[in-house]
Amino acid sequence: MGQIELSLSRANFITWFKNTTILSRGEGRVVVGVPNGFAKEWLENKYNLYIIKALKSLDPTIQDIKCSITPHAEKHTLAGGFAKSMDVARTTSSSPNAAPTGFSRKHISVAPVANHTGKELFSNNLNKRYTFENFIVAENNELARAACFAISQNLGHLYNPLFIYGGVGLGKTHLLQALGNEITAKHPEKKVKYITSERFTSELVESIKNQTVDQFKTAYEYIDLLIIDDVQFLSGREKTQNEFFHIFNALYQLNKQIVISSDRTPKSIPTLEERLRSRFEGGMIADISKPSLETRVAILQTKAQEKNVQIDQASIQFIAEHIKNNVRELEGALSRVFAYSEFQKVPITLTLVQKALSDMLVQTKKSVKLDDIVQVVSDFYGVAVEEMVKKGRKKEVAHPRQIAMYLLRTELDTPFSTIGDFFGGRDHTTVLHAVEKVTKNKETITRVREELHSLKEKLQAAHV
Ligand code: ADP
Ligand code: MG
Repeated sequence: MGQIELSLSRANFITWFKNTTILSRGEGRVVVGVPNGFAKEWLENKYNLYIIKALKSLDPTIQDIKCSITPHAEKHTLAGGFAKSMDVARTTSSSPNAAPTGFSRKHISVAPVANHTGKELFSNNLNKRYTFENFIVAENNELARAACFAISQNLGHLYNPLFIYGGVGLGKTHLLQALGNEITAKHPEKKVKYITSERFTSELVESIKNQTVDQFKTAYEYIDLLIIDDVQFLSGREKTQNEFFHIFNALYQLNKQIVISSDRTPKSIPTLEERLRSRFEGGMIADISKPSLETRVAILQTKAQEKNVQIDQASIQFIAEHIKNNVRELEGALSRVFAYSEFQKVPITLTLVQKALSDMLVQTKKSVKLDDIVQVVSDFYGVAVEEMVKKGRKKEVAHPRQIAMYLLRTELDTPFSTIGDFFGGRDHTTVLHAVEKVTKNKETITRVREELHSLKEKLQAAHV
């Protein structure tokens, strides 16, 4: 366990390994006891090499592992085994995982009043169009989908919170909504709420204005499944983060399920309070990445079928090869092709597709521009371009500036002197130093690596 823990993130280790045991060994095989079928599947498919490697280093005759669901472990997990393991972490360390502060138990143990179930106070914001059935599963999203689905079968007891991250248009909202819809259909008595973090913020601000903050907070206490979409927008909002933290803890303590999405990992959300960050990291983290060519083809085929539109393989292949960024754009391209064919009253052919998409394709080919990169970096860190260009050594600005210099160099091959000129006439050695520093840091500092990863995705999404 110690070896495996070192090679995984804390979140992954807790999610997958914390509640496992060795049941038996012999004839080169070790049987690992796992709490549920979901864990069995993931350990056998994704982590078997890690496990075998760790076991082999202790006993070279071990060749193979097998996972077996242990009823005891299942019970343990169902009874909040995960929460329990987190409690251990809380009491044995004074790390950011320490017990929540500012949270009053009394406040949450108020018994629900019959006519005050929270339902009247707000709608669940669910859109029936999003379901698990019409979510196409592929290698880029299978973990996130499996996690959402597992939670739909076992609310509040498996992975809490579940944190899903990935670039725009990759299906985060779709999955979160599908989970909400599934729960509402299966358990009409459960209270589900889906809300974007922006909407959460504006409702909170509104309630402060109307002096109804208490009602606002109380309404959240009756929720069984709280889904917060695009949590990155809480960045920089201290007051909102504070209120959200208390709501989060109140629900968490009651084993109520919380699911969060973001366009980046908790670590890469700038100005996110440490205590929220460690809460987000304390559950399960799953990512959605870009679909491969094969997956893009499958998505297009399925979406065309759903709409009952005839489209030949060559056309599908062409769209899949040219529209690479995300599912939303694939859908957009397909709709465009359909509309074009309908409007012109001609069948869909490769020529028609090429015509219909011609201006979209020009955009994708557009080459990266210096200004675009700097703008993306500025948006990402919330630091104005003027600030970055100015002379001065403010720490909050220095890091984004160095990252921008690094990206200009590595993505565009921009000469050092040009980069220096852009950033207020800085010397080329300053630029060289910045690029070297980021190159080094990205190897050693996870956060820097994750920031660069998110930034590159954003550059691609912006067709830069
Ligand atoms: P995000 O919230 O990550 O920006 P969305 O969930 O809004 O992305 O997805 C964008 C569009 O693509 C939606 O119409 C959604 O239904 C569709 N979509 C994304 N991923 C899938 C998928 N795996 N299967 C089917 N549709 C998908
Ligand atoms: Mg979304």
